Amino acid sequence: MRHYYLGLAANYSRRQRLKHTFAIGRKVDCDRLTRILTKRYQGEKVILTKNGRSALTLALMANFDKGDKIIVNAFTCYAVYEAIKAAGLEPVFADINKEDLNFGCLGADSESACPSDTLRAALAKSLCSAEHPDSESAPKGIIVQNTLGNPTDIEAIEKFAAEYNIKIIEDLAHCAGRKYKDGREMGTVGAATILSFGKDKSIDTVSGGALILRHPYKNPIEAPSKMPKISDHLRARFYPMFGALVRTLSYVHLGGPLMRGLIKIHFVEKSADNKLDIKRKISKFEAKLAAEQFKSLKDTPLREFCLVKNRNTVLKELKEAGYYFDGFWYERPVSPERYYKKTHFPEKDCPVAVEVSEKIINLPTYYSEKQLEKAREIIKKYSEAKNEVE
Ligand SMILES: *Cc1c(COP(=O)(O)O)cnc(C)c1O
Repeated sequence: MRHYYLGLAANYSRRQRLKHTFAIGRKVDCDRLTRILTKRYQGEKVILTKNGRSALTLALMANFDKGDKIIVNAFTCYAVYEAIKAAGLEPVFADINKEDLNFGCLGADSESACPSDTLRAALAKSLCSAEHPDSESAPKGIIVQNTLGNPTDIEAIEKFAAEYNIKIIEDLAHCAGRKYKDGREMGTVGAATILSFGKDKSIDTVSGGALILRHPYKNPIEAPSKMPKISDHLRARFYPMFGALVRTLSYVHLGGPLMRGLIKIHFVEKSADNKLDIKRKISKFEAKLAAEQFKSLKDTPLREFCLVKNRNTVLKELKEAGYYFDGFWYERPVSPERYYKKTHFPEKDCPVAVEVSEKIINLPTYYSEKQLEKAREIIKKYSEAKNEVE
């Protein structure tokens, strides 16, 4: 059994592991990454950050004023909620569909609304709940995340945004390198684009992030000026090494205890705990690795998912078959569980997000296609819709 240890690092060869650990980053690497991002996303201004949530906070601060409301996917990561709050804004959660986990409903035979209807419902709700319902309290922005790399209906969202004078912010944590159905590349549509280079994201250097401001923005923002903390830097560098050690020891059942110990002494950090800090720069070696990964970005979904009827039974069977499935995206509408309560998530308004969070299983990225064959068979038995595990 292989123990949990996430993201690209889990699939590194020994050579790649050494390369990650001993990569030397220089200022020219940051400049190079900035150039790549400027060109690819037609950036007016590009800022490299400590992580994705810091980039998102800066994107929101640049484009909105304190107290503004922002429409956000009801099935997302706590990092997004954290950034909205840190920028002094209020999230308005809009429910998702079960097919692509983005806003609204897609299925031709489904009786529910199209994406813009879902967004309109969220908008109406946010106006009703305001003390003085007027246009001042209407949402000013929308974050589009293309969950797990699945393209959202961007044209419907653009129409809605134009109608209500709402700015689009694109979050590429899951979908760098992907295209919308109309052929445009994700990250080239909105007023600003952010990337996360965290574990298991589409560009994965363990940590880091970037902001691309694409249009004139309202508020001045300061680029990060402080060097990364040494502890954060070393943690990102040695994660692949620790991971390999954990995996090796897991064959004698010591991997789990070791990983828990490493987390306890903060040598390894859970992804959700990566602290938001808009003042810290990216580690230069991360900029170097990210620039390299841009060369080989693939236009494939980030993670496969399927919805199963009885998740606990499925997990039990998977475990018996020797698999280690952990860390669903997402186990709660705003994940992880340990932060969920803080978000005061409106479960009544977003029933699909709640249901999906109870039924979803992701195929882990640390198994090969061959290793996954048996797992697929197990999942298929319980799958809600046949086509989703294919
Ligand atoms: C992970 C993630 C982020 C930000 O990630 P960091 O951990 O701060 O780099 C932003 N948006 C989404 C949808 C994410 O999954």
